[in-house]
Amino acid sequence: MTPVIALVGRPNVGKSTLFNQMTRSRDALVADFPGLTRDRKYGEGHYEGQKFIVIDTGGLTGDEAGIDAEMARQSMQAVEEADIVLFLVDGRAGLTAGDELIADFLRRSGKQAHLVVNKTDGQDPDVAASDFYRLGFDSPFLVAASHNRGIRSMLEVLLPEP
Ligand code: GDP
Ligand code: MG
Repeated sequence: MTPVIALVGRPNVGKSTLFNQMTRSRDALVADFPGLTRDRKYGEGHYEGQKFIVIDTGGLTGDEAGIDAEMARQSMQAVEEADIVLFLVDGRAGLTAGDELIADFLRRSGKQAHLVVNKTDGQDPDVAASDFYRLGFDSPFLVAASHNRGIRSMLEVLLPEP
């Protein structure tokens, strides 16, 4: 079974940047995965010979009313489809109310999610992460998606040996 990894988080935390890094070894946008819909972007990635699928989403804002309802729905469906959920936060912006609401949503979904602190470049990664401990997740992955940093070691933990 090919593991499916969903990227969720509020807008601008770096989900699409991470998606591009995880799938760039071949720019294969997946066109024939079961349950495929047009409102989420599916990509195929490889790590150490193992294949995985990544789902990028428009983003949860934490405010699920009105115009954001559609994006929230996409993200919920992506979470349901996923074997592994990555909850991205912005290590530069620090913890926001939107992050807290998404954390609540993920807890209610019953799916285990891993916290990923992005944008740790140019600062002490541990300091960047400390703001997010109160969200109550296990120790986060520290990455800088735009610098392709921390991604391989994260995949090494997430993807068990085939
Ligand atoms: P999304 O809305 O969650 O998909 O976020 P994007 O992937 O579109 O990224 C939002 C902005 O953050 C863009 O300007 C990215 O270049 C920037 N960004 C993404 N990852 C990093 C990172 O690791 N470090 C820094 N400094 N900027 C980043
Ligand atoms: Mg995006």
